[in-house]
Amino acid sequence: MGVVAHPTEPETRRSRRERSPETRPLPTRRELRERAAGSGSAVSRPPEDAASAPAREGGGSSEPGVLTASVRLPASVYVRRRAVAGAAALALVGLVVAGAIGTTSALSGSDAAAADPVAALLGDTAGNAPIASSLPAPAQSGDADSAAQPVDDAATDAAAAGDICSAPGFAEALSSGSDADVIAAAGGAEHFRAAITAGAAPCIDLHEAGRTWVVVNKLNALDPIDYWPEPQARAEGVERTSGGHMRADVAAALSQLAAAARDEGAGTIGVNSGFRSYDFQVSTYRNYVGQLGQSNADLTSARPGHSEHQTGLAVDVVACDGGCGAIEQFGGTAQSDWVAANAHRFGFIIRYPDGRTDTTGYEYEPWHLRYIGPELAALYADGGYRTLEDFFGMPPAPTYAD
Ligand SMILES: [Zn+2]
Repeated sequence: MGVVAHPTEPETRRSRRERSPETRPLPTRRELRERAAGSGSAVSRPPEDAASAPAREGGGSSEPGVLTASVRLPASVYVRRRAVAGAAALALVGLVVAGAIGTTSALSGSDAAAADPVAALLGDTAGNAPIASSLPAPAQSGDADSAAQPVDDAATDAAAAGDICSAPGFAEALSSGSDADVIAAAGGAEHFRAAITAGAAPCIDLHEAGRTWVVVNKLNALDPIDYWPEPQARAEGVERTSGGHMRADVAAALSQLAAAARDEGAGTIGVNSGFRSYDFQVSTYRNYVGQLGQSNADLTSARPGHSEHQTGLAVDVVACDGGCGAIEQFGGTAQSDWVAANAHRFGFIIRYPDGRTDTTGYEYEPWHLRYIGPELAALYADGGYRTLEDFFGMPPAPTYAD
């Protein structure tokens, strides 16, 4: 609520959706949980702000039946993947610790120091993602006997430290703190990422809407699927060519980004489109399918529940020199070059980079910025990551599961 400007009528919107079986999603896991707890469902509210926005990136199915099917499949894939990663994790923890014990006492310091190389190593094994920092090389021990010894206390400690969910203060941060608090409680962005890629963060759900680490793509729908972020705001001091609401913290970060671009000589950046609701995406995706056919529409517009714009964390920017250009004219401008080099300083990444359609499922969109928060964005930039899927060791999502 708070910062919201002109709310639409929530009751009207809700009752319209409920009358329309065509666009009404099945209950999400959260809604089911809430119903079971008797707390009712908790979704849509104020401003729908994209009435004139171009219908790109992530819409919903023109066949609503298909949409529900595509929502649950990825979860099982992901769980399966985590199980494999977890098994690999346990095996490698034993090897690394046994090796270290055999040659040096390097791991005898803090648990955090011990967990670091282990988690990062596992992340690489599990997700084929690059290791984001320089790591001490695992101790070499050519001695098969020492590697086969039972794990001792040090190994137990290392394994425990790898599970960030049991870290002191982590549960509390996750339930009542900010996303930055959660990352801090995990021991920092690197530990947080490494634990996720190693399957050592069972309490972190990358589908959970409202988190800066949410991964929304063609295999991962939002949970809940009709999530509506609050509070929302417009980025102060930033020109806009349409709607332009987004999550309030994202709006504040974008204001800082635009001011820095101007101060550093890159010119003026404007907002073209921010938050787009589930219902909005239903109609825009349908329009694209009507114009382009489904396969072409899927390259440029997300199906409902699969759009990053629905999170309030995504914003399409344009270059404003005199007047503001279109999103398609953003690439190649001074503003675009500056954003590519500096967006991470403000917590943003370019979500759909050039040449990675095989992973993201979308063509290059230099204008589409996704907020992941400054801690994760710094790690992302330092590690040379180019997709969020690689960053979290998730499978590529070039197409929908159906
Ligand atoms: Zn976009």
